Amino acid sequence: MKYLIGNWKMQLNESESEALAAEVVRLWAAQGATKTDVTVVLCPSHMALEEVGKITRGTPVAMGAQDTFWEDKGAFTGEISAKTLKELGCEYCLVGHSERRQFLAETDEMVNKKVQALLRHGLVPIVCVGETLDERNSGRRDSVVISQVRVAMNGVRLVGAQRVIIAYEPRWVIGSGNAVAPESAAEMHHLIISTLQELFAADIVDRQFSVIYGGAADSKNLAGFLAMDVIRGSLVGGAALKPLEFAAMAEIAADAVIK
Ligand code: PEP
Repeated sequence: MKYLIGNWKMQLNESESEALAAEVVRLWAAQGATKTDVTVVLCPSHMALEEVGKITRGTPVAMGAQDTFWEDKGAFTGEISAKTLKELGCEYCLVGHSERRQFLAETDEMVNKKVQALLRHGLVPIVCVGETLDERNSGRRDSVVISQVRVAMNGVRLVGAQRVIIAYEPRWVIGSGNAVAPESAAEMHHLIISTLQELFAADIVDRQFSVIYGGAADSKNLAGFLAMDVIRGSLVGGAALKPLEFAAMAEIAADAVIK
């Protein structure tokens, strides 16, 4: 299974979100129905979830949210619970995206509580990890990412068929147009998998975790990433806003599964 996950961030209003969702569904529905080894997920902003959910329901395109809160209900102004996301039709949810870490001081401990809330409500957390350029240049790349994974997964027990996706996104690459080399991304994927193997049984890591790459992925470089077995998909920002480009990436992911 390969994942192609579009993060629309705060780029679109409601009608733009609906139009993009309809176009992705139109482009991918004919293909996607037969290519069940690729999961395509759209993550609109919260205000568009209800309408986008109506468009994706019953199609091969799934919906995810960009964030959640860890409590189910209460005096938490501006927040949205995993329970409500589920009711809106979300199957996936990003947590710990670097923009939230940078602009909203989201910590690994908050990420951990969000992961637990999502699992409790049957959603698949997409946990974003990755080092800043400064951390990379000062030789802390590996320790930062190991710690992000360890804290995010602290106390997590996967029951039944629960799944978790870890998105490795080197932070300075996001939105830059310059992806890292696939070999460098693959090295980090191996590091994340060995960190998970310290926390979970090997068969659980194998079956219930997927590690994907994010950071300036597009239709030109995606095949190079997906040629690495360890890279199980991509989290896509800018290129996910262009329906033809995104559909082309879904095709590339499907080809990578066949090879
Ligand atoms: C992202 O926001 O997660 C992302 C990967 O963005 P981009 O593809 O634009 O680098």
